[in-house]
Amino acid sequence: MNHFIKTLDLKYIYKIAILVSHFGSSFFCLQSAGNIDLPISGGSQEFIVSTRTCSSNTSDSVYIIPIVFHVLYHDPVDNISDAQIADGLQDLNERFRKQNADTIDIIAPFVPIAADARIEFRLAQIDPYGNPTNGITHTYTDSTAFDFLWDAYYDSTGGTHTWPTNRYLNIHVVKGFAGIIGGGRGTLPSDMFPERQGIIITNNMVGAIGTGTGGTVFTHEMGHFLNLYHLWAYLGIPGDTTNCANDDEVTDTPNCFGASYYYGTPSGLWAESCGSLDNVQNYMDYSPSQIRNMFTTGQAARMHDALESPVGGRNNLHTEANQIATGIFVPNSIKETNNNQFVIYPNPASENLHISSSREALKIVQVFHVSGKEVLNLTDLDGFQTTINVGHLRPGVYIIKINHSHTQRLIIR
Ligand SMILES: [Zn+2]
Repeated sequence: MNHFIKTLDLKYIYKIAILVSHFGSSFFCLQSAGNIDLPISGGSQEFIVSTRTCSSNTSDSVYIIPIVFHVLYHDPVDNISDAQIADGLQDLNERFRKQNADTIDIIAPFVPIAADARIEFRLAQIDPYGNPTNGITHTYTDSTAFDFLWDAYYDSTGGTHTWPTNRYLNIHVVKGFAGIIGGGRGTLPSDMFPERQGIIITNNMVGAIGTGTGGTVFTHEMGHFLNLYHLWAYLGIPGDTTNCANDDEVTDTPNCFGASYYYGTPSGLWAESCGSLDNVQNYMDYSPSQIRNMFTTGQAARMHDALESPVGGRNNLHTEANQIATGIFVPNSIKETNNNQFVIYPNPASENLHISSSREALKIVQVFHVSGKEVLNLTDLDGFQTTINVGHLRPGVYIIKINHSHTQRLIIR
C-alpha cells in the first residue's frame, strides 16, 4: 500500500477511493493548559477511505445537515443544558457560514480565500423511530471517563448508541474520553465502522456558557468529519520540519510544518514555515483555539466533495428526503426568522398550543405543512397571548409563522 501511494500524486489522483492505513489516529485534538490543540497517540488502528473526487459543487446552495447531541454524564454538572448545546451549535453554524465576528481579524493575505463553507447544521426534530425530539439526548452513565476511545458510542460500554450515521450527524458530549479532558475527535469519512462516524467532544469545548469555555475545537473536529486534514497533511507531528514535503490535499492552504505559532518563529499571526506565510488562523491548524477563524475556499470545496460522496454515508445526510425524515426541512418559500419575540409551547404539541409575547401584540398566526401548504390561518388576533387548537392537524412537522416576522418549526404529535 505504501508503495502504491508513493507512485501517485496524492493531490490529483484521488478519483478512486484509496484505502490508507491510519496508524495510531493522529486526529485526536487535545486542548489542555494554554489552550493548545495537541495530538496524542491513539491505541486504535482504523482504515480511512479518502473521498477526494476532484469534483466540486459550484452552486451557491447550502448543505443542511441534521445533527443530534448525545450528552453523557455521571456527575450532574456534566449534564450540560440544552442552552449550552444551542450556544455551541450557533457558534459552529456562524463559523461554517463565515458569520463569526472575528472574521474581521483575518490577516490581509488570507482575506481573499477565507470562505463561507455553505454548510449548516440543524437539530433533528424527529428521531430514528419517528418520534419527536429536540435533537439532544441526555443519558446518565456509570462511567466517569470513557478510557477507551469508542466506549461512548456503545450502550454496552456505558455510552449511548449513535443514531444511523448516514441520517444524523452524531455528537457525543462527554466529560472526558481516552484521557482527554479538553478536546474532541472527529471521524474522517469511512465505511469501516458506520456506528463510529461522528464527533466525540468534551463538554467544556461546546459553547461558551455553562461548562463551555468557547474556542474552535468543535469547528476543527467538524472539519475532520468533513474530510479535512490538518494543514501539515494527513500524518505527521506538528512542528516536524519534514512535514513541509507533505500536503493536506487542499491547493490553497500553504504547506507548513504545523502549528508554527508555537513551534516556528514566534511571530504570531505572521509566522512562517516551509518558506511561506502560514495560515495560522485556519481552523485546521493547531494554533490557539481562540485565534482560529477561517476555512479556505479549497477546504470548503473538499468538504463539499465529502458531502457528495457515499463514503461514510455523508451524501445522504443533506438530501431533501432525509431533511424531511429528520424534521429539519424548511421549504425555500418559508424562511425561518426567529426574532425571539414569541414563546410557543408546548412544542411538540398535540392539542392546545399557547403563544405569548411580552413585547409584541399578536396579529396573525399561520401554520404551514413542510410541503409549503398553509393549513391554519388566524387573523384578527388581539393581545399578547392566545391559545389555538391544533388537534386536527396530522402528526408531523409544520412551520408556524407569526405576524409575518417570526417563523419556527412546530411538531404535532
Ligand atoms: Zn485535528
